[in-house]
Amino acid sequence: MPSAALTQARGVLTVRLAAGVTLRSEDFGAVAYVGERDDFFALDLAYAAVVRRAAAGPGAGLGAIVDGEDADRARLLASLGVCATSPATPERPHLGRSLVGDFAALPTLSRPLVVNCFSTAHCPLSCGYCHADDLMTPFRARDERWGGAAASARWDGVAATARTAGLVPAMVGVVTGGDPIVVPDRAIWLMERLAARKRVVLDTSGVGDIGPLLPALRRHQAHVRVSLDSADARLNDRVRPANPRYLPRGTSGFAGAHVTLRRLRDAGVPSSVQTVVGRHNQHLDDLRALRDHLVAVGVRHWVLHVAIPAGKAGRQPALLPDADALDRLRALVRECVDGGSPIDVRVTGTHRSPNAVLLVDTVGRLCVERRDGAGKEMIWSPDEAPDPHEVVRRYHRHVDLAGHASRYLNGTLEALPQPVG
Ligand code: SF4
Repeated sequence: MPSAALTQARGVLTVRLAAGVTLRSEDFGAVAYVGERDDFFALDLAYAAVVRRAAAGPGAGLGAIVDGEDADRARLLASLGVCATSPATPERPHLGRSLVGDFAALPTLSRPLVVNCFSTAHCPLSCGYCHADDLMTPFRARDERWGGAAASARWDGVAATARTAGLVPAMVGVVTGGDPIVVPDRAIWLMERLAARKRVVLDTSGVGDIGPLLPALRRHQAHVRVSLDSADARLNDRVRPANPRYLPRGTSGFAGAHVTLRRLRDAGVPSSVQTVVGRHNQHLDDLRALRDHLVAVGVRHWVLHVAIPAGKAGRQPALLPDADALDRLRALVRECVDGGSPIDVRVTGTHRSPNAVLLVDTVGRLCVERRDGAGKEMIWSPDEAPDPHEVVRRYHRHVDLAGHASRYLNGTLEALPQPVG
């Protein structure tokens, strides 16, 4: 490897794949998943070639030597956390940009990026807009008959969830529910299975003890998303109230989320905050206040989901944001770009394409939201022969492919300056 002085003098540098990055080849180049940020980047052919050289390298950890335009590409990739260079390139927030290189439009993906896997139907909160409510309620009643949430840890339905998820060639498996924090044994079991073939993300309200999950999260370099809707604790706890079946009335979801974020940081587990944008927090001032609060408490990755008329919110349209919610979010991200906010921002607009998300429920059924948003549709049953090619065919037939790419590649922000490079 050349010395730092030599590489600087000649504009040459070494580049290697950053830790915790997973690559997948696509016709347009490649997709890189950066676990630390929980972000996907679509790379055109030129950038993908640099990353492949970085990943191949001449030996463990040494990377490849690049110069000229490839050195510029390597620096940009390093700034996004995809690669690491020597001399070092500082990382910077991507601020809503996910396409790297030359793209005329959001690319088409050959296979899914993410599959969401329910580890439990139980949750300590009772959010008015809960998207997953229709997939949880029937199983909660069943678990009650079997002795409550704790009993579901012994139930082997999670094995069916893991088997179905194993047939979906997604890069990332999200352990979700319900809230995995309620039944940690079951979440750990699912995480172990998913990690054999996928990167792992865990969704949680943060209201509970994250401690039992920490060793498995660290072992699998998993990323944790913690939900928070407002910098105002009272407003947050009004829309995300404690469920009295699981928690003492008045338990603060706001406080729980912050404790969990601190514990994750102390344990070295990467985390982000996710926010559902509804009628309660759609105003720019509210979102600015939340952004500033997150930055102040050390959060560096933020995902905003526009509430969709599905699950509980399908029955309570008054909870949904105004029609111009996306315009406000674009304005917010524009402000973050202009102000150089030290936080990644990703925005999803699944209300425009309800059937963009793959879900595996607690009995292993692969589901998508129906195109008309009127409930979930099972697109593959765990009783069928386990044929991964058929599962991919169903993905292509039933999932809004552009919506899926948009959700994970920040397509909702198309009006902003994409791509980078
Ligand atoms: S924390 Fe998530 S799963 Fe639980 S009620 Fe709220 S939206 Fe639903």
